[in-house]
Amino acid sequence: MDSEAPQVEMVFFPFVGGGHQIPMIDIARLFASHGAKSTIIVTPTNAIQFQNSILRDQNSGHPISIHALQLPEGAVSPDSDMTATPSTDTTVLREPLKLFLTEHKPDCIVFDTFHRWAAELFDGLGIRKIVFNGSGCFPGCVSENIRKYEPHEKVGSDYESFLVPGLPDRIELTRSQIPIFVRDKSGRFAKMGKKDEDKSFGSVVNSFYELEPAYADYYRKEMGKKAWFVGPASLCNTDVADKAERGTQASIDEQSFMKWLDDKEPNSVLYIGFGSKPGFATGQFVEIAHALEASNCSFIWVVGKNLKDEENCLPGGFEERIKESKKGVIIRGWAPQLLILEHGAVGGFMTHCGWNSMLEGFCCGVPMITWPLSAEQFYNEKLVTDVLGIGVQVGSKEWISFKSEKKGLVGREKVEVAVKRLMGGGDEVVDIRKRAKELAGKAKRAVQVGGSSYIDADALIEELKSLKKNVN
Ligand code: UDP
Repeated sequence: MDSEAPQVEMVFFPFVGGGHQIPMIDIARLFASHGAKSTIIVTPTNAIQFQNSILRDQNSGHPISIHALQLPEGAVSPDSDMTATPSTDTTVLREPLKLFLTEHKPDCIVFDTFHRWAAELFDGLGIRKIVFNGSGCFPGCVSENIRKYEPHEKVGSDYESFLVPGLPDRIELTRSQIPIFVRDKSGRFAKMGKKDEDKSFGSVVNSFYELEPAYADYYRKEMGKKAWFVGPASLCNTDVADKAERGTQASIDEQSFMKWLDDKEPNSVLYIGFGSKPGFATGQFVEIAHALEASNCSFIWVVGKNLKDEENCLPGGFEERIKESKKGVIIRGWAPQLLILEHGAVGGFMTHCGWNSMLEGFCCGVPMITWPLSAEQFYNEKLVTDVLGIGVQVGSKEWISFKSEKKGLVGREKVEVAVKRLMGGGDEVVDIRKRAKELAGKAKRAVQVGGSSYIDADALIEELKSLKKNVN
C-alpha cells in the first residue's frame, strides 16, 4: 500500500435491525482493520448494542468510531429491537445525517439500500455512494434473471417448477417460492434497490469469491456490476466477547449453556435458528417440537420472542421433558449464534437461509437443514443444497411476507425426515460434512492476508485513495 497517500475516510450507514445492521458493522470494522478511517452512523439505541466491540477495536489501534445521530425532540427512533423489517421507515434520520455529512466530507458512504430516501441525499451533497444490500451474488443473479426472463409467468400454477434461465447451474423454483413483489408485475420494491445500485460507485458484498465463483463472475461480467467481495464479514469477530455480544445481549446464562454443549458428542447437536424476524405459520412450533422428540436428536432451538404469540406455543410438557433428559435447550430471545455455530458439538444448522446465517454456517463448516421463509431465502436455499451440496431441504414451499398472514406450515413428518437425514450420520452426510469443512477453510483463507476478500477490501481502499489524490 502507498504510505504517502492520505488516509481514506469511509462512512457506514447501516439499516436498523439484525440481518442488515450486524453485517455492515462487521464490514466497517473490517475496513478499519485495513487502515481506512471508518465511522459508523447509527441511532443512539443501536450504538449501545455494539459499542464494546468498537472500543476493543480502538484499543487495538484501529481507526474506527461511532457517530450516534441526535434525533429531533419527540421523534420516534426506528429501532425498537433487532426485528426491523425492510419496510421500517427511517426518514427521521435524514436531517441529522445531512448535518453530519455537511460537516464531514468522507471519501465515500457505504449505505444500506433499505434507507430508500438516502441515495438522493448523498447525490445532493456530492458524496460518493457505495451500496450494501445485505445479500450475495447467487441470489442477486437468480433475482435478476427472474426479473429479466419472467420464467414464473410461463408456468400453469404456483406449484409447477420452472428453470431460471441463463445461470451457470440448473436452478429450479416455483412461483410460490418467489417474493410477492416480484410476482407483482410492477416490481416496485425490487426496482427501487436496483436503481440505487445502478447509479452508485459500486457495491460492497458480504461474500467471498470462492463461495460462488461462477456467480461472482456473472455478477460482474454479465450483469455489469462493480463489486468488492469482502466477506465473510463475521470473521472479523475474533474476540469471544465480540461473538457473545454480537447483535444484542444474549438471553442465556452463558456458562451453563456452554457446559451443556461441552458435554455433548462432536456433531451431535442440531442448532435451530431462524434469524432476527418472526414469521412462521400458525402451529409450526408444535410440529417442530414433535419432530425433535421423535428424532431423538439433541438441539438448541432459538424461538426468539415468537412464543409470545398465542398462535405459536410448544406442546404441553415439552420443555420439562427436554430439560429432564438434557436433550435440548430453548432460547427465548437472542442467541450468541457465532459462539454456538463454532462449537464442535454442533453438527447441523436448521436455518431460514438468511444470507448472514448461511455465511456464518459456512465459516464453521456446519451442514444445514434449509427452511426458507421470506426475502431472497428460497434462492439462498438452492445455493446450499443444489450448488454447494452441503444441506438438505425441509420442503418449504410458501414464500411469506413479514406482514402477511402466516401460511406454509411444514408438517412434523417432513421435519423429522430432514433432521434424521442430516443428523443420522449416513453415507450421504459424510460427504456433506466433508464439503462443508472444505468450504469453511476457503472462507477463512479469503479474509486472511493475501486472500481474495482481503485483496478486494484493499483494492477499494486503494481506488478511493487514488481518487482522493487526483482531487487534491
Ligand atoms: N442472530 C443472532 N442471534 C439470534 C438471531 C439472529 O446472533 O438469536 C444474528 C445472526 O447471527 C445473523 C443475523 O442475526 O448475523 C440474522 O441475519 P440473517 O441474514 O441470517 O437473517 P434475517 O434476520 O435478516 O432474516
